[in-house]
Amino acid sequence: MLLSAGVAAYADEEWREVVGEEFTFTEVRSGVWHVRGSGTIAVGSNGALVVNDRDALLVDSHMTPAAARALLADLPLVTDKPIRDLVNTHFHFDHVHGNQVFGSEVEILAHEYTHAKIASGGTQRGRGYEAFIAAIPQRMQQVQEQIEQASAEEKQQLTQRLERMRRIWEQEQETRPTAPTLTLQEAVTLYRGGREIRILHFGRGHTGGDVVVYLPEERVLVAGDLITGGLPYMGDGFLLEWADTLEPLTQLEIDVILPGHGAAFTQVERLGFLQMYLRDLWRKLVELHAQGVSAQEAAASVDMSAHRERIPDVEQAGVSRHTVDRVYELLDANGSQGP
Ligand SMILES: [Zn+2]
Repeated sequence: MLLSAGVAAYADEEWREVVGEEFTFTEVRSGVWHVRGSGTIAVGSNGALVVNDRDALLVDSHMTPAAARALLADLPLVTDKPIRDLVNTHFHFDHVHGNQVFGSEVEILAHEYTHAKIASGGTQRGRGYEAFIAAIPQRMQQVQEQIEQASAEEKQQLTQRLERMRRIWEQEQETRPTAPTLTLQEAVTLYRGGREIRILHFGRGHTGGDVVVYLPEERVLVAGDLITGGLPYMGDGFLLEWADTLEPLTQLEIDVILPGHGAAFTQVERLGFLQMYLRDLWRKLVELHAQGVSAQEAAASVDMSAHRERIPDVEQAGVSRHTVDRVYELLDANGSQGP
């Protein structure tokens, strides 16, 4: 059902917006849509949709089969073309756990690294999955205990939170990790009607196998989590290489970036801001690690606040413990050849 249609004003451009039951579609160029959850179902991340002459390409399948089915239900609002290609930008659960709802006629494209992770059958789901999904039962237990001692007002909030967690946990149980059917190492270009769609890997970054989807004619980049609206999750990243991996992206002709989290944006210079952040953070953590400062202490004390003006979400003090654990893990494994 079409709930509303309107225009989204972002920075220097106005884009058509279609709001469905569970998803919001923002058309940044003709037939090129940013696909975001409307908040009614947990989707975890943003995807993109590229509508071609005879078919459509989807980027990322969201965090559960239920979320992917909800997307397919809303899709007729923006296209009647069948999805023929699905790109997984990287292996994280919130981008690939909807894969299984797509039929055998849909080619699932990704980097070889992503294939290996998903094909591991759930044994290599990454630090984020362990923290945000696998830990849900334990966290539900904690919330349950809090509810017993809470005031009436707090009780209501906590109960809603518990309900949300229970729903995500139940939906996640349906997931059967479904690996890509076509892999690449560096690049593949699809020609679909008049559309040229490049799927590119420039090196390790947010994970070991991120790909971006680049439309050279439309000058649109679908970035996955290599760059997001705020600060990307770094718990499975290769931080120093990540900064280098962003470099070729700064050389592409891009007008609009569709990130895996956060709203679409036109400030392409943000790529450089993230490079600076990553290099600065890496340097500081290498120093703290060498001084024998614990991960816990480093996470609480490392000062990245100089970046706050340029990157939303940068903490006033300290950084995420996941980030520090990851960097320490890489350093303990002797630098770039980390796990
Ligand atoms: Zn991710």
